[in-house]
Order: sequence, then C-alpha cells, then structure tokens
Amino acid sequence: MKKTIRDLDLSGKNVLVRVDFNVPLKDGVVKDNNRIKEAIPTIKYLMNQGAKVVLCSHLGKVDHKDPDKCEADKKKNDMKYVLPVLEELLGSEVCYVDEVCGSKVIDALNNLSDGGVMLVQNTRYEKGESKNDPELAKEMAKNIDVFVMDAFGSAHRAHASTYGVPELLNNEGKETAIGFLMEREIEALSKCVEADEHPYVAVLGGAKVSDKIKVIEGLLDKADKIIIGGAMAYTFLKAKGVEVGKSLVEDEQLEFASKCLEKGKDKIILPIDHIVSFAFEGEEYMPTINENIPDLFIGLDIGPRTREYFAKELANAKIVFWNGPMGVFENPSFAEGTKSVCESIAKLEKAFSVIGGGDSASAAKELGYKERFSHVSTGGGASLEMIENNGSLPGIDIIQNKK
Ligand code: ADP
Ligand code: MG
Repeated sequence: MKKTIRDLDLSGKNVLVRVDFNVPLKDGVVKDNNRIKEAIPTIKYLMNQGAKVVLCSHLGKVDHKDPDKCEADKKKNDMKYVLPVLEELLGSEVCYVDEVCGSKVIDALNNLSDGGVMLVQNTRYEKGESKNDPELAKEMAKNIDVFVMDAFGSAHRAHASTYGVPELLNNEGKETAIGFLMEREIEALSKCVEADEHPYVAVLGGAKVSDKIKVIEGLLDKADKIIIGGAMAYTFLKAKGVEVGKSLVEDEQLEFASKCLEKGKDKIILPIDHIVSFAFEGEEYMPTINENIPDLFIGLDIGPRTREYFAKELANAKIVFWNGPMGVFENPSFAEGTKSVCESIAKLEKAFSVIGGGDSASAAKELGYKERFSHVSTGGGASLEMIENNGSLPGIDIIQNKK
C-alpha cells in the first residue's frame, strides 16, 4: 500500500504536488477542465492542513531540438492558460510563477503563507524534464519537504517531475505520498489488473494498434473476452484474410495481429459487419452485408449486427475495461457503435466498469453515459500501461509504501 496524504503531517511544510494539468487547449483556452477538477480534492486537503502547496505539471509537448519550434510550442503550451480555470475551480487565488524552478520559484514559496497555493510553469519548458535529468530534479526539489504524486495520466513516464524528484526526496529521508486522485485511480485499475471476477470483458477500439499492442497481450492472460472494434479491428480482420477495402490498417502489425488471433482463438471478438463510406467525412454511408468491406470503401463504424453481437458478449460481464471508440464517433453518423457499447455497459448492474482512454471518455460524456461507468480514468496511456505491467508504473513505484 502506498503512503497517502492522509498519513502525513503537513502543517507548515513545503509540498510539491505533481498534478496532471495536461488539458486540451485551443488558442489559449482550456477545452476540457476534467483533469483540473479531479485534482481539486487533493489541493483543498493540503491547503486545509496548512501546507504551502506548489503545483507542477507538464502541458502539451515542447520540442527542444528545433529552436523555432521550441519557442512556438512554449507560447502555445504556457501554464498561464490553466491558471484562471484552476482559480475558479478551487475558489481561491493562486500565485503563478512563469518558471519551473530557480530563484523566482523559491522567492514565491518563501512568501507563501500556510495554506497558500502556487502554480509553476509547464515542466516541459525544461529540457531535462523528459530525460529525467538529475540536475533539474535537484533544482525542483530545492526547499521542498514533501512530494505528492497526483498525476495518474503521467505516472507511466519516468520524468524529472514524476520520478527524479521523488527519488531524490526518498534518498534524502523526506516523505513522498500519493494524493486522492492517484488513490482512486490505483484502486480502480487494480481491479482490472487483478482480474478476480469473471467474466472479464475488455473492449478495445480507436485508431492505433501500435499504441495498444502490449495491452492486448496482457489482456489475453487476464480477460475472458477481448472485443475489438474501431479502426483497430481492420488490422485484425486483414490478418484473418477478410477484405477491408480502404479502411485504416497498420500493415507492420499484421504479423502481431495473427499471433494474437492464434493465441486468443476463443477470446478475440471481431466485427461481423460495418458501416462504410467512400470518405472519412462521408455523408453517404451504408452497412455491409458481412464482415467483408468492398473495394474503395472505408469502415467507419461497427454495423448493426455487430452491435448486437458485442452486446451479447458484454451481457454478463463482471469487469469491463474499455479503451477506444468503436467508430469515428465525432461524426454522429458513425457514433452508433460506440453508443451501443456504452448502452451495454450501462445496463450491467453488478459489473465494475472502467474507461481508460481520453477519446473514449469524451465519447461517453458526449453520448450521455459517463456517469454510468464505475470509474473514468484521467489517464489513457497510463491505464493501458498499468494493465500491461501488472499494476506497476514508475510514478507509482517510486512513492513510499505505508509503514
Ligand atoms: P482513446 O483516446 O480512447 O484511447 P484513441 O485515441 O485510440 O482512443 O482513438 C480515438 C480515435 O479513433 C477517434 O478520433 C476516432 O475517430 C478514431 N476511430 C475510431 N474508429 C475509426 C475508424 N473505423 N477509422 C478511423 N478512425 C477511427
Ligand atoms: Mg486518444
């Protein structure tokens, strides 16, 4: 069991919290505040305990190889855009420092009163962040007494802010702990890792097979059924010799898909019909007669027979892990498959259901099913890797255990 913030004496301590404020931005406006919202209980608790709270997070990508691109990325992914949203959700003022570490940050921390909060610049402004540079970790850990990990969405990365800093504090005999968001995520995802209840049904979809390969392997050992929809299905169908027309296929993954199909003969469930069109933004579309997709057509959603088939496979599930939409749900014409999977999961009364994917979570929200899931993870990549690695992630492993 990991040490949590409840186990700490926080009054008057300088507490660095790694949050996940990596939110979608458009022209400097936060498009989805969910991750910020989910971090609020931890921040409020630390404030009420009288800690001096320093919040840090990455935000988007910063290319440090190309100087022009670096400047443009920094402009686009400035943490100052998060500040007003954070202040509103928290209902208090937050001191903002446009540096990640250094004298400005230390001065601001010295001026912070007990129970006060400050936010520092996007950790990726620092070149050393993604490389887990020990010098950067040292700078970030300066004057810090306690490190709190509450960024589940970044826990699969061993970066300076998620790994280097807690490692350093552990070595210095200081305390490291997880926050409430982390605690909830670990508890929920652990159920998908331990796989103690059956049937355990995984639903995978979305666009990229290569991102999700390893989790399929992990799930073959844990789950009873793996339902595959979305663009992912076409690589598997092609590997089986089915006609997929012009649908999205990752040819480099065909061999892997064949191996999975062999190993998971009785487990992997693939679509038996599709909704197809001539183009991605196609206005005209139609169902296919069977699993084959005629030449020139693109598969953009699972078909009506597949929806029924998938619903049957989900009917008695006790654990459901869902990652990846069943179709191009952004277009209402191709959202029916995703909606039907949501519907099947919503119907399950005794099941524990988890969404582990950003687009899947937005789809569930848009289609009105979000509240019907037991847990909606704030981390897509992290939840996949946690299942792959049997419950272990660098950003979790480095935190101290309860005594
Ligand atoms: P998540 O964020 O939940 O992990 P992904 O990012 O892997 O999901 O995939 C989401 C994307 O997959 C969506 O933008 C959706 O439009 C796309 N997608 C789903 N089905 C298809 C398809 N048949 N062809 C092309 N793209 C698809
Ligand atoms: Mg996605």
